[in-house]
Amino acid sequence: MSASIVPAVEKLKRFNAKRVFVQYPEGLKLRVQGIAKELEAAGFEVIVSVEPCYGACDLRDAEAKRLGCDALLHIGHEDFGVKSELLVVFWEYFIDTDPAPIIEKEFAKLKPYGRIGIVTSIQFVHAVEKARKFLEKNGKKVLTHKALQYEGQILGCNLDAALKIENDVDAFLCISAGKFYGLGLVMKTDKPMFCLDLEKGTLSDMDELKKRIQKTIAWNRAALDDAKRVALLVSWKRGQAKSPFELKKKLEAKGKEVIILAMDEITPEKLTGLKIDAALNLACPRIGIDDLGRYRMPVLNLEDAGTLI
Ligand code: SF4
Repeated sequence: MSASIVPAVEKLKRFNAKRVFVQYPEGLKLRVQGIAKELEAAGFEVIVSVEPCYGACDLRDAEAKRLGCDALLHIGHEDFGVKSELLVVFWEYFIDTDPAPIIEKEFAKLKPYGRIGIVTSIQFVHAVEKARKFLEKNGKKVLTHKALQYEGQILGCNLDAALKIENDVDAFLCISAGKFYGLGLVMKTDKPMFCLDLEKGTLSDMDELKKRIQKTIAWNRAALDDAKRVALLVSWKRGQAKSPFELKKKLEAKGKEVIILAMDEITPEKLTGLKIDAALNLACPRIGIDDLGRYRMPVLNLEDAGTLI
């Protein structure tokens, strides 16, 4: 599945960019050398970042400037207002694909639900209308909401397009590649949630995974209550940085020993060797959902910390 580079090249030319620093989601890593070649053929000098990049919260403008670039090309993400010292061109990387054959194959799973809310990630916003058409033709009422740039579009940390229609639907259908977006939503809604994976060609109920994660969160919450030494995990990524000092005081007032740990990407390996009983995450909220199983200590998002904070 790939997308045309033409809109990105046009935008970069319009802004008179010469040397471009490229950031992209991990799922496009296999494509990025081809993209660099296409950009060079269009007249740009290109530097490709190999640091993982999960969203528009992560703008490497300072690094790009240091390397003499005059523009960032952010692929597969949407501008949500994070400030940059450099021109940022967002290339949505739209992929034109039809989810209808997968829905048709798996239609029995949707049978009990009359009103279906559709959400998607930026790359697949064009698939929403195709899914709507198929579902409506087969007797379903389809609802979508525009909370970001495109109808039905959600982010890993912005589910407004779903939550605004939650009371009006019987189930959600998340059209994307992989489970990342569907998992974000299923953790925030009590409605049945089906993840349509365009890469695997499957439609799966996310309920079991949700229950497993909820159990881990409940266990981590109890462990945090008992913890003596608590770490506050802070990222300095532009769109994730938050001040931890008020929270530190609050926890200390409750008898905790608190240390603030800062890093770029929050990973379990970076916490190895530190004497910590539990950690609270102040950075990307997906750390306290997707990554929980990878940590050797209880880690919680702030919103899951319960009465302690
Ligand atoms: S904060 Fe997390 S979920 Fe939100 S855009 Fe950044 S990486 Fe994605």
